[in-house]
Amino acid sequence: MPNLTLEHSPNAAINKAPYHRYMDLPIPDGKVQATYIWIDGTGENLRGKTRTLDFVPNKPDELPIWNFDGSSTLQAERSSSDTYLYPVAIYADPFTRGNNKLVLCDTYKYNKKPTETNKRFTCLQAMEAAAGSKPWFGIEQEYTLLDMDLRPFGWPKNGFPGPQGPYYCGVGANKVYARDIVDAHYRACLYAGINVSGTNAEVMPAQWEYQVGPCEGISIGDQLWISRYILHRVAEDFGVIVTFDPKPMEGDWNGAGAHTNFSTQAMREDGGILEIEKAIDKLSRNHLRHIQAYDPHGGKDNERRLTGHHETSSIHDFSAGVANRGASVRIPRGCAEEKKGYLEDRRPSSNCDPYAVTEAIVRTCVLNE
Ligand code: ADP
Ligand code: MN
Ligand code: MN
Ligand code: MN
Repeated sequence: MPNLTLEHSPNAAINKAPYHRYMDLPIPDGKVQATYIWIDGTGENLRGKTRTLDFVPNKPDELPIWNFDGSSTLQAERSSSDTYLYPVAIYADPFTRGNNKLVLCDTYKYNKKPTETNKRFTCLQAMEAAAGSKPWFGIEQEYTLLDMDLRPFGWPKNGFPGPQGPYYCGVGANKVYARDIVDAHYRACLYAGINVSGTNAEVMPAQWEYQVGPCEGISIGDQLWISRYILHRVAEDFGVIVTFDPKPMEGDWNGAGAHTNFSTQAMREDGGILEIEKAIDKLSRNHLRHIQAYDPHGGKDNERRLTGHHETSSIHDFSAGVANRGASVRIPRGCAEEKKGYLEDRRPSSNCDPYAVTEAIVRTCVLNE
């Protein structure tokens, strides 16, 4: 008998062998399972529900608009709770394969106005206005794996692992925990059509990172959100929890961020370093606006993380530097040498909404708002 305590997820204890017998059953021709996925009223958590289609969709606008009970997701009052799902992007479903799809949606209220947590709506407007400068983004998504008791996965139950040092990019059973989840997520994202560019173990044990990008315009937000959904689903299979909290453990443990790498066409061309410096100057004059956009609680979450220690800058001051991991914005050494490339904004929190982050960057650096 599996030993079920609070520490262990029931999902991890289920015998998975019978599952494959059913999942091997063919689906009737032309039928497609489409899982509609959206950001709920927390601005952090994802929800999804599945419907059958009788055609294979190629573009989001071929998909039906759907709805859900917004009063159960912190997105509506009970009296007018129907909330609308507008499909915006389609990905191959790595869980059920075949023609099945993951469908990213944004959300609209009963009166067809965007919900409060639909940050995509204004982000898309900014990206369309800035399209001529071809803005690219690459986001480094850090996260922490937790056991069912909300303690970092693999940590001693009565005590702590040894101090940070050996874990970053580590290998070995006493250095990294649950690489299975990391590998499975990486493969599932590639299958889905996400532009994942890499992964690594992080400084705190049970903390990991993957990168998405470079992606142009609105697609970075779309792809990052779907990659988070896939991560939650993969970890669910293993009975492990994913948290994007920016400081899951107080004390001498690194927090988690979502470093956002950004460039325009002009920055990527020869001599683009001048454009990078201009953008950094604009960022320096809009520090507060960016801090407010860089976590879902207007800066409150990042207060715990941006302390000036553990490879972060202080939340109160803007700073920039070449190869400086204690700065708000870093110019990677290679870009300084080549005099072109991109900048890295290290301030966004791991639980940030990438639509809000990239919108702020484009409005400050490209649209001069
Ligand atoms: P770090 O050295 O900070 O750990 P990573 O290698 O983890 O950096 O991530 C770098 C990110 O920058 C990747 O997501 C990559 O796709 C992205 N990137 C690379 N070139 C550009 C560019 N020109 N514009 C925007 N993002 C870029
Ligand atoms: Mn990185
Ligand atoms: Mn990192
Ligand atoms: Mn980085």
